[in-house]
Amino acid sequence: MQLHFIANAPVRSSSERTLPVIDPSDGQPYDTIQRGTPEDIDAAVRAARQCFEGPWGKLSAAERGRLLMRLSLKVSACSEELAAIEQRDCGKPTKQARADALALARYFEFYAGACDKLHGETLPYQEGYTVLTWREPHGVTGHVIPWNYPMQIFGRSVGGALAAGNACVVKPSEDACVSLIRVAQLAAEVGFPAGAINIVTGLGHEVGDALARHAGVDHISFTGSPRVGTLIQQAAAERHCPVTLELGGKSPQIVFADADLEQVLPTVVNAIVQNAGQTCSAGSRLLVEDSVYEPLLERLGEAFTRLRVGPAAMDLDVGPLIRQSQQQRVWDFLSDAQHAGISLVAQGTVVDEAPQSGFYQAPTLLRDVPVAHRLAQEEVFGPVLAAMRFRDEDHAVELANATRFGLVAGVWTRDGGRMLRMARRVRSGQVFINNYGAGGGVELPFGGVKSSGHGREKGFEALYGFTTLKTVAIRHG
Ligand code: NAD
Repeated sequence: MQLHFIANAPVRSSSERTLPVIDPSDGQPYDTIQRGTPEDIDAAVRAARQCFEGPWGKLSAAERGRLLMRLSLKVSACSEELAAIEQRDCGKPTKQARADALALARYFEFYAGACDKLHGETLPYQEGYTVLTWREPHGVTGHVIPWNYPMQIFGRSVGGALAAGNACVVKPSEDACVSLIRVAQLAAEVGFPAGAINIVTGLGHEVGDALARHAGVDHISFTGSPRVGTLIQQAAAERHCPVTLELGGKSPQIVFADADLEQVLPTVVNAIVQNAGQTCSAGSRLLVEDSVYEPLLERLGEAFTRLRVGPAAMDLDVGPLIRQSQQQRVWDFLSDAQHAGISLVAQGTVVDEAPQSGFYQAPTLLRDVPVAHRLAQEEVFGPVLAAMRFRDEDHAVELANATRFGLVAGVWTRDGGRMLRMARRVRSGQVFINNYGAGGGVELPFGGVKSSGHGREKGFEALYGFTTLKTVAIRHG
């Protein structure tokens, strides 16, 4: 049985109730987590506050950095164990689970080095004054985390918040929290003071909501769906608590006729099948210039046909989806597509070894998806790629910007002027040119515009969001 981790100790929920942990590869429960309560959240927030006002708040930036570095090394040393936990909990193929564990170590490494580089400024003002700005931590930060990349999102969110000097209360997804409980234990082992990192598991509308509403939380970082992002922002608005929202995407891969198709092909495939398409920045729309539309789709179809789907431990191209309701969601999209007469170009294969009770979905390539169809507008969050064609640059921009999202875009062209024009005209938080980084780039500020959210995590930029600026004006004559 998994317990909360509060003030460096395992803690049972006051509810005395648990939730099952299910292996997506066979759909079977194999462990339990605590079904947390608002009282558990309260205990975690109080522990974080004590730590912030006590040992954690008294550390210098360099000392915080050293602790984060120790945690990074510990996570690296335990990366196989963490990858195995994540594999079973989330159904991640081995390569992906390992990559996630190493990314977690890399986030801590990056933010370890950043701690003592964050500083304020002196500002020119009137004669006889000295004016300073300080970057101060918010205090207690709340982190609500989704199930698709628990370790990576914990690393970027909690890593940045700790580097800036905050103490953290984390509410992982009820579908994926086992690895994060282990990471918090590792942090305690390397010397993080009690209360610096607290984990409370449970259901979103119970503990996630309680965290967002808690008066002792000074900043909320939420990564998840736009629907819940709205609820979080509304809850936080009641007490004017700042929020960072990392929400969904419907990211376009825009391929011009002059692109190097040899580079385009593997990247476009990977950007939609990585993590079974359950990636906020998945390249889920493929926009292709008329003259190369047919040849590209033909080759992509061949590539999709070769993709194999199966249990996480088989480490194939694609693992299972996280849960049955997610599988049903993907089926609903595909059934809508069929009713709308949208043509299927190709599908991968679910291998015979995949248990019937697992949550599998073959990667699917669809063509000529109308821009208004929900497949071109909404997140499927599965390995489904919607292809459509464009006439020219203006038409490509129009289609790229024709959703409520704006997270990431990929542009493929050899024309230097067009690279820059497209990067300016596409509305998104990141633009990749002749490459695509679904979920990648510890150093690169990440976040969205429009319904993809606001605020930035990753990179040094995240530290500005995890701090507040104080201006100190000294009149000394
Ligand atoms: P979700 O919104 O259902 O859940 C996210 C988290 O919010 C979970 O921990 C959940 O328990 C919690 N939650 C649910 N209801 C809540 C409530 N009423 N109050 C407070 N917390 C609540 O999202 P999900 O299904 O776990 O993840 C998939 C979504 O996350 C997709 O939309 C995806 O695009 C998005 N996502 C975005 C990013 C990004 O960086 N932009 C990264 C990963 C995932």
